[in-house]
Amino acid sequence: MKRGMQLLASYLSGSWSPGSGARTALVNPATEAPIAEVSAGGHDLAAAFAFARTSGAAELNALSFAQRGALLAACAKAIHGAREALIDLAVANGGNTRGDAKFDVDGGSATLGYYAELGARLGNTTHLPDGDPIQVGRTARMGGQHIWARRRGVAVHINAFNFPGWGLCEKLACSLLAGMPTISKPATATALVAHRMMELFAPLLPAGALQMLVGPAGDLLDHVRPGDAVAFTGGSSTARTLRTHPKIVEHNVRLNIEADSLNAAVLAPDVDLSSETGGLFLADVVRDMTQKTGQKCTAIRRVLVPLGKEADVADALKERLAAIQVGDPSLENVRMGPLATAAQAKDIKAGIARLAAATDSIYGGTGEITPVGVPAGKGYFVGPVVRATKDPMNCAPLNEHEVFGPCTTIGSYDGTAVFASAFVAKGDGCLVSSAYSDDRDWVATFVGAAAPWAGRLYLGSSKMAAMSPGPGTALPSLLHGGPGRAGGGEELGGERGLHFYMQRTALEGDASVLKSLLG
Ligand code: NAP
Repeated sequence: MKRGMQLLASYLSGSWSPGSGARTALVNPATEAPIAEVSAGGHDLAAAFAFARTSGAAELNALSFAQRGALLAACAKAIHGAREALIDLAVANGGNTRGDAKFDVDGGSATLGYYAELGARLGNTTHLPDGDPIQVGRTARMGGQHIWARRRGVAVHINAFNFPGWGLCEKLACSLLAGMPTISKPATATALVAHRMMELFAPLLPAGALQMLVGPAGDLLDHVRPGDAVAFTGGSSTARTLRTHPKIVEHNVRLNIEADSLNAAVLAPDVDLSSETGGLFLADVVRDMTQKTGQKCTAIRRVLVPLGKEADVADALKERLAAIQVGDPSLENVRMGPLATAAQAKDIKAGIARLAAATDSIYGGTGEITPVGVPAGKGYFVGPVVRATKDPMNCAPLNEHEVFGPCTTIGSYDGTAVFASAFVAKGDGCLVSSAYSDDRDWVATFVGAAAPWAGRLYLGSSKMAAMSPGPGTALPSLLHGGPGRAGGGEELGGERGLHFYMQRTALEGDASVLKSLLG
Protein backbone atom coordinates (compact mmCIF):
# COMPACT_ATOMS: atom_id res chain seq x y z
CA MET A 1 0.00 0.00 0.00
CA LYS A 2 1.34 3.47 -0.86
CA ARG A 3 2.07 5.52 2.23
CA GLY A 4 3.17 8.85 0.80
CA MET A 5 1.16 11.94 1.69
CA GLN A 6 -1.86 9.90 2.53
CA LEU A 7 -4.95 11.58 4.03
CA LEU A 8 -5.76 9.40 7.04
CA ALA A 9 -9.42 8.45 7.17
CA SER A 10 -11.47 7.81 10.27
CA TYR A 11 -13.40 4.54 10.64
CA LEU A 12 -16.88 5.55 11.71
CA SER A 13 -20.38 4.07 11.28
CA GLY A 14 -18.95 1.09 9.43
CA SER A 15 -16.96 2.91 6.76
CA TRP A 16 -13.79 4.92 6.18
CA SER A 17 -14.26 8.65 5.94
CA PRO A 18 -11.48 11.22 5.36
CA GLY A 19 -13.45 14.07 6.95
CA SER A 20 -13.20 17.64 5.77
CA GLY A 21 -11.82 21.04 6.69
CA ALA A 22 -8.31 22.33 7.18
CA ARG A 23 -5.60 19.69 7.03
CA THR A 24 -2.81 19.07 9.54
CA ALA A 25 0.38 17.32 8.47
CA LEU A 26 1.85 14.42 10.42
CA VAL A 27 5.61 14.62 10.18
CA ASN A 28 8.72 12.54 10.66
CA PRO A 29 10.10 14.17 13.83
CA ALA A 30 13.70 13.39 12.85
CA THR A 31 13.54 15.24 9.54
CA GLU A 32 10.35 17.31 9.87
CA ALA A 33 9.26 15.91 6.48
CA PRO A 34 5.46 15.57 6.20
CA ILE A 35 4.32 11.96 5.79
CA ALA A 36 0.53 12.05 6.06
CA GLU A 37 -2.34 14.42 6.69
CA VAL A 38 -5.51 14.49 8.75
CA SER A 39 -8.50 16.73 8.28
CA ALA A 40 -9.90 18.92 11.03
CA GLY A 41 -13.26 17.19 11.31
CA GLY A 42 -16.49 17.07 9.36
CA HIS A 43 -17.45 13.70 10.84
CA ASP A 44 -20.95 12.79 11.94
CA LEU A 45 -20.06 11.69 15.45
CA ALA A 46 -23.71 11.54 16.57
CA ALA A 47 -24.18 8.82 13.94
CA ALA A 48 -21.03 7.01 15.13
CA PHE A 49 -22.33 6.89 18.72
CA ALA A 50 -25.72 5.71 17.46
CA PHE A 51 -24.02 2.97 15.44
CA ALA A 52 -22.09 1.86 18.54
CA ARG A 53 -25.25 1.90 20.69
CA THR A 54 -27.21 -0.19 18.20
CA SER A 55 -25.07 -2.45 16.05
CA GLY A 56 -21.95 -2.56 18.26
CA ALA A 57 -23.88 -3.16 21.47
CA ALA A 58 -26.10 -5.86 19.97
CA GLU A 59 -23.16 -7.71 18.44
CA LEU A 60 -21.07 -7.68 21.61
CA ASN A 61 -24.04 -8.46 23.85
CA ALA A 62 -24.53 -11.73 21.98
CA LEU A 63 -20.99 -12.85 22.80
CA SER A 64 -19.54 -14.51 25.90
CA PHE A 65 -16.19 -13.55 27.42
CA ALA A 66 -14.59 -16.46 25.60
CA GLN A 67 -15.95 -15.28 22.24
CA ARG A 68 -14.85 -11.69 22.83
CA GLY A 69 -11.46 -13.03 23.90
CA ALA A 70 -11.26 -14.81 20.55
CA LEU A 71 -11.77 -11.43 18.82
CA LEU A 72 -8.84 -10.00 20.79
CA ALA A 73 -6.71 -13.00 19.84
CA ALA A 74 -7.49 -12.34 16.17
CA CYS A 75 -6.45 -8.69 16.55
CA ALA A 76 -3.18 -9.72 18.26
CA LYS A 77 -2.49 -12.14 15.41
CA ALA A 78 -3.15 -9.40 12.85
CA ILE A 79 -0.56 -7.19 14.54
CA HIS A 80 1.97 -10.02 14.42
CA GLY A 81 1.29 -10.43 10.71
CA ALA A 82 1.91 -6.74 10.00
CA ARG A 83 4.61 -6.23 12.62
CA GLU A 84 7.40 -5.04 10.35
CA ALA A 85 5.20 -2.48 8.59
CA LEU A 86 3.90 -1.21 11.94
CA ILE A 87 7.44 -0.87 13.27
CA ASP A 88 8.42 1.11 10.16
CA LEU A 89 5.47 3.46 10.71
CA ALA A 90 6.42 4.00 14.37
CA VAL A 91 9.99 4.80 13.34
CA ALA A 92 8.83 7.27 10.69
CA ASN A 93 5.98 8.96 12.56
CA GLY A 94 6.99 8.58 16.22
CA GLY A 95 10.72 9.21 16.12
CA ASN A 96 11.10 5.72 17.56
CA THR A 97 14.21 3.62 17.23
CA ARG A 98 13.42 0.08 16.11
CA GLY A 99 13.62 -1.01 19.75
CA ASP A 100 11.20 1.75 20.82
CA ALA A 101 8.83 0.81 18.00
CA LYS A 102 8.86 -2.85 19.03
CA PHE A 103 8.11 -1.81 22.61
CA ASP A 104 4.94 -0.04 21.40
CA VAL A 105 3.81 -2.57 18.78
CA ASP A 106 4.69 -5.76 20.67
CA GLY A 107 3.37 -4.25 23.90
CA GLY A 108 0.05 -3.78 22.09
CA SER A 109 -0.18 -7.31 20.76
CA ALA A 110 1.00 -8.83 24.05
CA THR A 111 -1.70 -6.96 25.96
CA LEU A 112 -4.39 -8.09 23.50
CA GLY A 113 -3.03 -11.63 23.82
CA TYR A 114 -3.12 -11.49 27.62
CA TYR A 115 -6.78 -10.40 27.64
CA ALA A 116 -7.63 -12.96 24.95
CA GLU A 117 -6.41 -15.65 27.35
CA LEU A 118 -8.31 -14.09 30.22
CA GLY A 119 -11.46 -14.20 28.07
CA ALA A 120 -10.90 -17.89 27.37
CA ARG A 121 -10.50 -18.51 31.11
CA LEU A 122 -13.68 -16.57 32.01
CA GLY A 123 -15.43 -18.81 29.51
CA ASN A 124 -18.97 -19.03 28.29
CA THR A 125 -20.51 -16.47 30.61
CA THR A 126 -21.43 -12.78 30.41
CA HIS A 127 -21.13 -11.56 33.99
CA LEU A 128 -18.62 -12.09 36.76
CA PRO A 129 -18.93 -12.74 40.49
CA ASP A 130 -17.41 -10.10 42.75
CA GLY A 131 -16.39 -11.85 45.94
CA ASP A 132 -18.14 -14.68 47.74
CA PRO A 133 -21.80 -15.18 48.67
CA ILE A 134 -22.77 -13.29 51.82
CA GLN A 135 -25.39 -14.24 54.39
CA VAL A 136 -27.54 -11.16 54.93
CA GLY A 137 -30.57 -12.68 56.69
CA ARG A 138 -31.11 -14.49 59.96
CA THR A 139 -30.42 -17.80 58.21
CA ALA A 140 -28.33 -18.85 55.21
CA ARG A 141 -31.46 -18.76 53.00
CA MET A 142 -31.36 -14.97 52.68
CA GLY A 143 -28.19 -14.16 50.77
CA GLY A 144 -26.28 -11.47 48.98
CA GLN A 145 -23.85 -11.58 46.07
CA HIS A 146 -22.07 -8.84 44.15
CA ILE A 147 -21.70 -9.27 40.41
CA TRP A 148 -20.08 -7.38 37.56
CA ALA A 149 -22.58 -6.96 34.71
CA ARG A 150 -22.09 -5.64 31.18
CA ARG A 151 -22.76 -1.91 30.88
CA ARG A 152 -25.05 -0.65 28.16
CA GLY A 153 -23.03 2.25 26.85
CA VAL A 154 -20.14 3.32 24.66
CA ALA A 155 -16.49 3.36 25.70
CA VAL A 156 -14.61 6.42 24.45
CA HIS A 157 -10.83 6.15 24.43
CA ILE A 158 -8.60 9.21 24.07
CA ASN A 159 -4.92 8.35 23.81
CA ALA A 160 -1.58 10.15 24.14
CA PHE A 161 1.00 10.57 21.38
CA ASN A 162 3.73 8.45 22.93
CA PHE A 163 2.23 4.96 22.62
CA PRO A 164 -0.12 4.97 19.61
CA GLY A 165 -0.10 1.17 19.32
CA TRP A 166 0.04 -0.01 22.92
CA GLY A 167 -2.33 2.78 24.04
CA LEU A 168 -4.98 1.68 21.54
CA CYS A 169 -4.63 -2.00 22.45
CA GLU A 170 -4.44 -1.77 26.23
CA LYS A 171 -7.67 0.19 26.46
CA LEU A 172 -9.41 -1.80 23.73
CA ALA A 173 -8.50 -5.16 25.31
CA CYS A 174 -10.46 -4.25 28.45
CA SER A 175 -13.47 -2.50 26.94
CA LEU A 176 -14.03 -5.10 24.23
CA LEU A 177 -13.63 -8.04 26.60
CA ALA A 178 -16.09 -6.34 28.96
CA GLY A 179 -18.50 -6.05 26.03
CA MET A 180 -18.59 -2.29 25.41
CA PRO A 181 -18.55 -0.95 21.86
CA THR A 182 -15.66 1.46 21.61
CA ILE A 183 -14.73 4.68 19.85
CA SER A 184 -10.98 5.24 19.99
CA LYS A 185 -9.17 8.50 19.28
CA PRO A 186 -5.39 8.41 18.89
CA ALA A 187 -3.34 11.57 19.41
CA THR A 188 -3.21 13.34 16.05
CA ALA A 189 0.56 13.86 15.74
CA THR A 190 1.48 10.14 15.81
CA ALA A 191 -1.74 8.57 14.56
CA LEU A 192 -0.23 6.46 11.76
CA VAL A 193 0.37 3.30 13.82
CA ALA A 194 -3.10 3.36 15.40
CA HIS A 195 -4.69 4.06 12.02
CA ARG A 196 -2.92 1.05 10.47
CA MET A 197 -4.00 -1.13 13.39
CA MET A 198 -7.59 0.00 12.83
CA GLU A 199 -7.24 -1.07 9.19
CA LEU A 200 -6.13 -4.49 10.44
CA PHE A 201 -8.83 -4.85 13.11
CA ALA A 202 -11.84 -3.56 11.13
CA PRO A 203 -12.46 -6.75 9.10
CA LEU A 204 -12.01 -8.92 12.22
CA LEU A 205 -14.50 -7.25 14.56
CA PRO A 206 -18.32 -7.16 14.56
CA ALA A 207 -19.87 -4.02 13.05
CA GLY A 208 -19.79 -1.13 15.52
CA ALA A 209 -17.53 -2.90 18.05
CA LEU A 210 -14.63 -0.54 17.33
CA GLN A 211 -14.60 2.82 15.56
CA MET A 212 -11.75 5.27 15.28
CA LEU A 213 -11.70 9.04 15.03
CA VAL A 214 -8.43 10.21 13.50
CA GLY A 215 -7.76 13.92 14.04
CA PRO A 216 -8.96 16.43 16.61
CA ALA A 217 -11.67 15.41 19.10
CA GLY A 218 -14.14 18.03 17.84
CA ASP A 219 -17.54 17.43 19.45
CA LEU A 220 -16.74 13.82 20.40
CA LEU A 221 -17.61 14.22 24.07
CA ASP A 222 -20.85 16.11 23.40
CA HIS A 223 -22.43 12.75 22.53
CA VAL A 224 -21.75 10.86 25.75
CA ARG A 225 -24.71 9.68 27.80
CA PRO A 226 -25.38 7.91 31.10
CA GLY A 227 -23.74 4.48 31.02
CA ASP A 228 -20.84 5.56 28.80
CA ALA A 229 -17.23 5.42 29.96
CA VAL A 230 -14.39 7.71 28.89
CA ALA A 231 -10.78 6.63 29.34
CA PHE A 232 -8.19 9.33 28.77
CA THR A 233 -4.40 9.33 28.67
CA GLY A 234 -2.60 12.61 28.25
CA GLY A 235 -1.61 15.84 29.92
CA SER A 236 -3.14 17.21 33.12
CA SER A 237 -4.52 20.37 31.51
CA THR A 238 -6.48 18.34 28.94
CA ALA A 239 -7.58 16.09 31.80
CA ARG A 240 -9.02 19.13 33.59
CA THR A 241 -11.01 20.05 30.45
CA LEU A 242 -12.45 16.54 30.37
CA ARG A 243 -13.31 16.47 34.08
CA THR A 244 -15.39 19.61 33.67
CA HIS A 245 -16.88 18.77 30.28
CA PRO A 246 -20.59 19.65 30.58
CA LYS A 247 -21.82 16.31 29.20
CA ILE A 248 -19.51 14.28 31.40
CA VAL A 249 -20.67 16.27 34.42
CA GLU A 250 -24.37 16.26 33.43
CA HIS A 251 -24.54 12.51 32.85
CA ASN A 252 -22.09 11.37 35.55
CA VAL A 253 -20.11 9.66 32.84
CA ARG A 254 -17.34 7.45 34.18
CA LEU A 255 -13.98 9.02 33.50
CA ASN A 256 -10.59 7.35 33.92
CA ILE A 257 -7.58 9.64 33.77
CA GLU A 258 -3.97 8.67 33.23
CA ALA A 259 -1.97 11.89 33.39
CA ASP A 260 1.40 13.33 34.44
CA SER A 261 3.67 11.53 36.86
CA LEU A 262 6.91 12.36 38.68
CA ASN A 263 8.11 8.81 39.18
CA ALA A 264 10.96 8.32 41.61
CA ALA A 265 13.72 5.70 41.86
CA VAL A 266 15.43 5.22 45.20
CA LEU A 267 18.70 3.41 45.85
CA ALA A 268 18.73 1.98 49.38
CA PRO A 269 21.88 2.22 51.52
CA ASP A 270 22.52 -1.55 51.53
CA VAL A 271 23.16 -1.61 47.78
CA ASP A 272 26.64 -1.53 46.31
CA LEU A 273 26.63 -0.10 42.79
CA SER A 274 28.75 -3.01 41.55
CA SER A 275 26.19 -5.57 42.83
CA GLU A 276 23.39 -7.07 40.78
CA THR A 277 20.86 -4.77 42.44
CA GLY A 278 23.09 -1.75 41.81
CA GLY A 279 23.45 -2.76 38.16
CA LEU A 280 19.68 -3.09 37.84
CA PHE A 281 19.21 0.40 39.30
CA LEU A 282 21.67 1.96 36.82
CA ALA A 283 20.24 0.04 33.85
CA ASP A 284 16.69 1.06 34.76
CA VAL A 285 17.57 4.75 35.10
CA VAL A 286 19.41 4.80 31.76
CA ARG A 287 16.69 2.81 29.98
CA ASP A 288 13.96 5.10 31.28
CA MET A 289 15.87 8.22 30.23
CA THR A 290 16.53 7.03 26.70
CA GLN A 291 13.85 4.48 25.70
CA LYS A 292 11.20 6.35 23.67
CA THR A 293 13.44 9.41 24.29
CA GLY A 294 12.12 9.53 27.83
CA GLN A 295 8.53 9.93 26.60
CA LYS A 296 7.10 7.25 28.84
CA CYS A 297 4.55 8.18 31.48
CA THR A 298 6.25 5.61 33.73
CA ALA A 299 9.82 6.87 33.22
CA ILE A 300 12.04 7.68 36.21
CA ARG A 301 12.19 11.48 36.58
CA ARG A 302 13.61 11.74 40.11
CA VAL A 303 16.50 9.71 41.51
CA LEU A 304 17.46 9.47 45.18
CA VAL A 305 20.77 7.96 46.29
CA PRO A 306 22.38 7.67 49.75
CA LEU A 307 24.58 10.56 50.82
CA GLY A 308 28.14 9.90 49.67
CA LYS A 309 27.12 7.79 46.65
CA GLU A 310 26.16 10.71 44.38
CA ALA A 311 29.53 10.90 42.61
CA ASP A 312 29.69 7.15 41.92
CA VAL A 313 26.14 7.13 40.55
CA ALA A 314 26.84 10.21 38.43
CA ASP A 315 30.01 8.66 36.99
CA ALA A 316 28.24 5.39 36.16
CA LEU A 317 25.36 7.21 34.45
CA LYS A 318 27.76 9.43 32.48
CA GLU A 319 29.65 6.40 31.21
CA ARG A 320 26.49 4.62 30.09
CA LEU A 321 24.86 7.69 28.54
CA ALA A 322 28.00 8.60 26.61
CA ALA A 323 27.61 5.32 24.69
CA ILE A 324 24.15 6.30 23.44
CA GLN A 325 24.10 7.64 19.91
CA VAL A 326 21.33 10.20 19.31
CA GLY A 327 19.99 10.85 15.82
CA ASP A 328 17.80 9.55 13.02
CA PRO A 329 16.10 6.54 14.64
CA SER A 330 15.97 4.64 11.36
CA LEU A 331 19.78 4.25 11.53
CA GLU A 332 20.95 1.01 13.09
CA ASN A 333 23.56 2.50 15.44
CA VAL A 334 21.21 5.16 16.81
CA ARG A 335 19.91 4.34 20.29
CA MET A 336 17.78 7.44 20.89
CA GLY A 337 15.60 9.37 18.46
CA PRO A 338 13.95 12.80 18.58
CA LEU A 339 10.97 13.90 20.62
CA ALA A 340 7.70 13.24 18.87
CA THR A 341 6.61 16.77 18.06
CA ALA A 342 7.86 20.34 17.85
CA ALA A 343 5.52 21.27 20.72
CA GLN A 344 6.97 18.53 22.92
CA ALA A 345 10.52 19.66 22.13
CA LYS A 346 9.62 23.23 23.11
CA ASP A 347 7.94 22.07 26.36
CA ILE A 348 10.83 19.85 27.31
CA LYS A 349 13.43 22.52 26.65
CA ALA A 350 11.41 24.92 28.83
CA GLY A 351 11.14 22.26 31.56
CA ILE A 352 14.88 21.60 31.49
CA ALA A 353 15.59 25.34 31.62
CA ARG A 354 13.39 25.60 34.74
CA LEU A 355 15.27 22.67 36.30
CA ALA A 356 18.62 24.12 35.25
CA ALA A 357 17.91 27.29 37.21
CA ALA A 358 17.69 25.24 40.42
CA THR A 359 20.11 22.35 39.82
CA ASP A 360 23.65 21.54 38.69
CA SER A 361 24.58 19.83 35.45
CA ILE A 362 25.89 16.27 35.69
CA TYR A 363 25.52 15.23 32.06
CA GLY A 364 24.21 16.79 28.87
CA GLY A 365 23.83 20.40 30.07
CA THR A 366 20.38 21.47 28.97
CA GLY A 367 20.04 18.93 26.18
CA GLU A 368 21.84 20.60 23.27
CA ILE A 369 22.96 17.91 20.84
CA THR A 370 24.09 17.41 17.27
CA PRO A 371 22.12 14.39 16.11
CA VAL A 372 23.65 11.96 13.63
CA GLY A 373 22.16 11.31 10.19
CA VAL A 374 19.88 14.32 10.22
CA PRO A 375 19.89 17.42 7.96
CA ALA A 376 21.44 20.34 9.86
CA GLY A 377 18.94 22.19 12.02
CA LYS A 378 16.18 19.65 11.47
CA GLY A 379 14.37 17.41 13.92
CA TYR A 380 13.00 17.74 17.45
CA PHE A 381 16.13 16.59 19.27
CA VAL A 382 17.06 16.94 22.91
CA GLY A 383 20.01 14.95 24.26
CA PRO A 384 20.02 12.98 27.54
CA VAL A 385 20.26 15.29 30.55
CA VAL A 386 21.19 14.44 34.15
CA ARG A 387 20.88 17.21 36.73
CA ALA A 388 21.71 17.19 40.44
CA THR A 389 20.03 18.90 43.36
CA LYS A 390 21.40 19.44 46.87
CA ASP A 391 17.90 19.58 48.32
CA PRO A 392 15.72 16.98 46.58
CA MET A 393 12.82 17.41 48.97
CA ASN A 394 12.48 21.14 48.38
CA CYS A 395 13.50 21.46 44.73
CA ALA A 396 10.21 22.80 43.34
CA PRO A 397 10.93 22.42 39.59
CA LEU A 398 11.81 18.77 40.25
CA ASN A 399 8.81 17.89 42.38
CA GLU A 400 6.16 19.97 40.66
CA HIS A 401 6.74 19.69 36.94
CA GLU A 402 7.04 16.64 34.69
CA VAL A 403 9.72 17.02 32.01
CA PHE A 404 8.38 14.48 29.48
CA GLY A 405 11.72 13.73 27.85
CA PRO A 406 15.23 12.27 28.35
CA CYS A 407 15.94 14.05 31.61
CA THR A 408 16.40 12.94 35.19
CA THR A 409 17.61 14.61 38.38
CA ILE A 410 19.65 13.09 41.22
CA GLY A 411 19.46 14.05 44.88
CA SER A 412 20.89 12.46 48.00
CA TYR A 413 19.32 11.43 51.31
CA ASP A 414 20.08 10.01 54.74
CA GLY A 415 19.37 6.46 53.60
CA THR A 416 16.23 5.99 55.69
CA ALA A 417 13.15 4.38 54.17
CA VAL A 418 11.12 7.11 55.87
CA PHE A 419 12.89 9.86 53.88
CA ALA A 420 12.72 7.76 50.69
CA SER A 421 8.96 7.26 50.94
CA ALA A 422 8.42 10.94 51.79
CA PHE A 423 10.33 11.77 48.60
CA VAL A 424 8.01 9.51 46.59
CA ALA A 425 5.05 11.30 48.22
CA LYS A 426 6.52 14.67 47.23
CA GLY A 427 5.47 13.93 43.63
CA ASP A 428 1.84 14.24 44.81
CA GLY A 429 0.86 10.88 43.34
CA CYS A 430 2.66 8.87 40.68
CA LEU A 431 2.12 5.94 38.34
CA VAL A 432 5.12 4.01 39.60
CA SER A 433 8.10 4.47 41.85
CA SER A 434 10.93 2.09 42.50
CA ALA A 435 13.21 1.13 45.34
CA TYR A 436 16.39 -0.93 44.95
CA SER A 437 17.29 -2.90 48.04
CA ASP A 438 18.03 -6.37 49.37
CA ASP A 439 17.17 -5.34 52.91
CA ARG A 440 13.66 -6.63 53.59
CA ASP A 441 13.07 -4.47 56.67
CA TRP A 442 14.00 -1.33 54.73
CA VAL A 443 11.65 -2.40 51.91
CA ALA A 444 8.78 -3.09 54.31
CA THR A 445 9.02 0.39 55.83
CA PHE A 446 9.30 1.95 52.37
CA VAL A 447 6.26 0.11 50.99
CA GLY A 448 4.12 0.94 54.02
CA ALA A 449 4.69 4.67 53.63
CA ALA A 450 5.07 5.01 49.83
CA ALA A 451 2.16 2.81 48.67
CA PRO A 452 -0.56 5.46 49.15
CA TRP A 453 1.29 7.69 46.67
CA ALA A 454 1.91 5.24 43.83
CA GLY A 455 -0.19 3.08 41.53
CA ARG A 456 2.66 0.59 41.40
CA LEU A 457 5.79 0.06 43.48
CA TYR A 458 8.64 -1.69 41.74
CA LEU A 459 10.97 -3.40 44.18
CA GLY A 460 14.33 -4.02 42.53
CA SER A 461 16.53 -6.67 44.13
CA SER A 462 19.21 -9.21 43.30
CA LYS A 463 16.76 -12.10 43.08
CA MET A 464 14.62 -10.54 40.34
CA ALA A 465 17.24 -8.45 38.53
CA ALA A 466 17.88 -10.92 35.73
CA MET A 467 14.23 -11.18 34.70
CA SER A 468 12.97 -7.66 35.39
CA PRO A 469 11.41 -5.59 32.60
CA GLY A 470 12.11 -2.44 34.66
CA PRO A 471 9.63 -0.03 36.25
CA GLY A 472 8.88 1.66 32.93
CA THR A 473 6.98 -1.28 31.47
CA ALA A 474 3.26 -1.38 32.24
CA LEU A 475 2.21 -5.01 32.45
CA PRO A 476 -1.32 -6.21 31.60
CA SER A 477 -1.46 -8.27 34.79
CA LEU A 478 -0.67 -5.31 37.08
CA LEU A 479 -2.51 -2.04 37.62
CA HIS A 480 -1.50 0.95 35.53
CA GLY A 481 -2.55 4.32 36.90
CA GLY A 482 -1.84 6.34 39.99
CA PRO A 483 -3.30 8.72 42.56
CA GLY A 484 -3.19 12.51 42.68
CA ARG A 485 -1.12 14.15 39.94
CA ALA A 486 -1.17 10.89 37.96
CA GLY A 487 -4.92 11.34 37.47
CA GLY A 488 -6.41 8.94 40.00
CA GLY A 489 -7.06 6.33 37.31
CA GLU A 490 -6.68 2.57 37.12
CA GLU A 491 -6.24 0.52 33.97
CA LEU A 492 -5.20 -3.08 33.31
CA GLY A 493 -4.46 -5.23 36.39
CA GLY A 494 -5.86 -8.44 34.87
CA GLU A 495 -9.59 -8.82 35.48
CA ARG A 496 -9.60 -5.48 37.38
CA GLY A 497 -9.15 -3.75 34.02
CA LEU A 498 -12.63 -4.89 32.97
CA HIS A 499 -14.38 -3.35 35.96
CA PHE A 500 -14.28 0.23 34.66
CA TYR A 501 -16.36 -1.00 31.73
CA MET A 502 -18.80 -3.04 33.85
CA GLN A 503 -21.46 -2.33 36.45
CA ARG A 504 -21.08 -3.75 39.95
CA THR A 505 -24.50 -4.75 41.18
CA ALA A 506 -25.41 -6.19 44.57
CA LEU A 507 -27.96 -9.01 44.31
CA GLU A 508 -30.06 -9.75 47.35
CA GLY A 509 -32.46 -12.68 47.64
CA ASP A 510 -32.87 -16.41 48.07
CA ALA A 511 -29.32 -17.75 48.33
CA SER A 512 -30.10 -20.71 46.08
CA VAL A 513 -31.42 -18.40 43.34
CA LEU A 514 -28.27 -16.29 43.58
CA LYS A 515 -26.15 -19.41 43.32
CA SER A 516 -28.00 -20.61 40.23
CA LEU A 517 -27.65 -17.18 38.57
CA LEU A 518 -23.88 -17.44 38.84
CA GLY A 519 -23.89 -20.91 37.36
P1 NAP B 1 -2.61 15.84 25.45
O1 NAP B 1 -2.23 17.05 24.71
O2 NAP B 1 -3.35 15.99 26.71
O3 NAP B 1 -3.39 14.91 24.42
C1 NAP B 1 -3.87 13.67 24.78
C2 NAP B 1 -5.06 13.31 23.93
O4 NAP B 1 -6.14 14.19 24.25
C3 NAP B 1 -4.83 13.46 22.43
O5 NAP B 1 -5.49 12.41 21.77
C4 NAP B 1 -5.47 14.79 22.13
O6 NAP B 1 -5.89 14.90 20.79
C5 NAP B 1 -6.67 14.73 23.03
N1 NAP B 1 -7.30 16.00 23.33
C6 NAP B 1 -6.72 17.22 23.40
N2 NAP B 1 -7.64 18.14 23.73
C7 NAP B 1 -8.83 17.49 23.86
C8 NAP B 1 -10.16 17.90 24.16
N3 NAP B 1 -10.46 19.16 24.43
N4 NAP B 1 -11.12 16.96 24.19
C9 NAP B 1 -10.85 15.68 23.93
N5 NAP B 1 -9.61 15.24 23.62
C10 NAP B 1 -8.61 16.13 23.59
O7 NAP B 1 -1.36 14.98 25.85
P2 NAP B 1 -0.18 14.46 24.92
O8 NAP B 1 0.64 15.63 24.56
O9 NAP B 1 -0.67 13.55 23.86
O10 NAP B 1 0.57 13.55 25.99
C11 NAP B 1 1.54 14.06 26.84
C12 NAP B 1 1.16 13.89 28.27
O11 NAP B 1 0.48 12.67 28.50
C13 NAP B 1 2.38 13.82 29.13
O12 NAP B 1 2.36 14.95 29.96
C14 NAP B 1 2.27 12.56 29.94
O13 NAP B 1 2.46 12.76 31.29
C15 NAP B 1 0.90 12.09 29.72
N6 NAP B 1 0.89 10.64 29.57
C16 NAP B 1 0.38 9.89 30.56
C17 NAP B 1 0.32 8.52 30.44
C18 NAP B 1 -0.26 7.65 31.51
O14 NAP B 1 -0.49 6.46 31.26
N7 NAP B 1 -0.54 8.16 32.67
C19 NAP B 1 0.80 7.92 29.28
C20 NAP B 1 1.31 8.72 28.29
C21 NAP B 1 1.34 10.09 28.44
P3 NAP B 1 -4.99 15.65 19.68
O15 NAP B 1 -3.73 14.88 19.60
O16 NAP B 1 -5.83 15.54 18.47
O17 NAP B 1 -4.79 17.03 20.18
